[in-house]
Amino acid sequence: MAVLRQIAQLGNPVLRAPAATVPFPLSDEARALIDDMLETLRDADGVGLAAPQVHQPLQIMIVASRPNPRYPEAVEMDPLVVVNPEVVERSTELVKGWEGCLSIPGLRGEVARHQRIKARYQTVHGESVVREFDGFIARIFQHEDDHLRGVVFLDRLENGDRLATEREYQKRFARG
Ligand code: ZN
Repeated sequence: MAVLRQIAQLGNPVLRAPAATVPFPLSDEARALIDDMLETLRDADGVGLAAPQVHQPLQIMIVASRPNPRYPEAVEMDPLVVVNPEVVERSTELVKGWEGCLSIPGLRGEVARHQRIKARYQTVHGESVVREFDGFIARIFQHEDDHLRGVVFLDRLENGDRLATEREYQKRFARG
């Protein structure tokens, strides 16, 4: 049965270390980790989670856009488990958007991301796929992929004026 994992908070070195490639077939431990990540993400009302955020420096991440109290405008999708990702193409078009992070509670910041990306990754079955992502889902993908490289959204802020507590974000920025 899946259990909730503790989410590493900013300052923990696990969030700053590059994650290791995951070998196939997946070990029992890796399968349990993925089940636990899915459960932990649901419980936390998140739209994405990377394994380093639950203290496992492995190249596993979940992209799971869905409307919830933290992201009411999010599109609905089935959670996508991504292993060993590599972004292979990026649109020149950048789009700004407000991000939060389960490892950086209480803060939101505006970050520019590529509008579209093409990524290669492996499924839980070890199949290699190449897929394009667009808009908010592309944003989540880039945010989680950053976590696998020891990067957090604060590193990508262009302007300190566009960093806010959750409360001020809701008051000032949430509706445009
Ligand atoms: Zn994050």
